[in-house]
Amino acid sequence: MFDLQRAISEADNICFLTGAGVSTASGIPDYRSKGGLYADSEKPEYALSDDNLARHHENFHQWVLANMFHPEAKPNVIHDKMAAISNVKGTIVTQNVDGLDRAAGAEHVIEFHGNLYRLYCQKCHQTFSYDQYQQSDIHAADGGVIRPDIVLYGEPINQQVAEAAVDAVSSADLLIVVGTSLVVYPFAGLLRYAPMGATLVAVNKEALELPPRAHMVQGDAVSVFEPLHL
Ligand SMILES: [Zn+2]
Repeated sequence: MFDLQRAISEADNICFLTGAGVSTASGIPDYRSKGGLYADSEKPEYALSDDNLARHHENFHQWVLANMFHPEAKPNVIHDKMAAISNVKGTIVTQNVDGLDRAAGAEHVIEFHGNLYRLYCQKCHQTFSYDQYQQSDIHAADGGVIRPDIVLYGEPINQQVAEAAVDAVSSADLLIVVGTSLVVYPFAGLLRYAPMGATLVAVNKEALELPPRAHMVQGDAVSVFEPLHL
């Protein structure tokens, strides 16, 4: 079995690549998971698209309030350990938009798909609080639609964010994939930038299809991360 603790202790620069599975232990459901909440109802891929926001902003507003925002959620032990480790030697590149890595105190975080709690008016770019967004998705002063600063289906990844993520991956000597099956592009493509000599490891309940040189730590991420230290 791969010794994750030893790899962390010996590494100089660790890059965590994370996804929804990290936040499910904080009570945030994975809207993409098989048999998940929306399998038989409205497709999240459309609800969360630039097209839905442009054509049916009321529907978009209701959908994200009902399904995406979990203001009561607290960081769990995976967030805590990643924050402690990455603050000393590394970076977290996450697909999650829930802000829980920063809430856990992580300072080196790249939010690949943005952050739900950064809300702004599309017309004038004024920012709004979650409480204000709950009241209305229209900026009364100019009639602009208020939206979360997340990457919707149909929208490109912010160029600077993508470049920062590539930098983090390409300068790491240990890459730890956790809470994601690496099926959603372009995030999944980041692994291609891992240096040849770097160690790759994935922590996941089910075995993943990984490059041949990658190590698999199969198990519940909470139990795997609980004993980890610098
Ligand atoms: Zn405005």
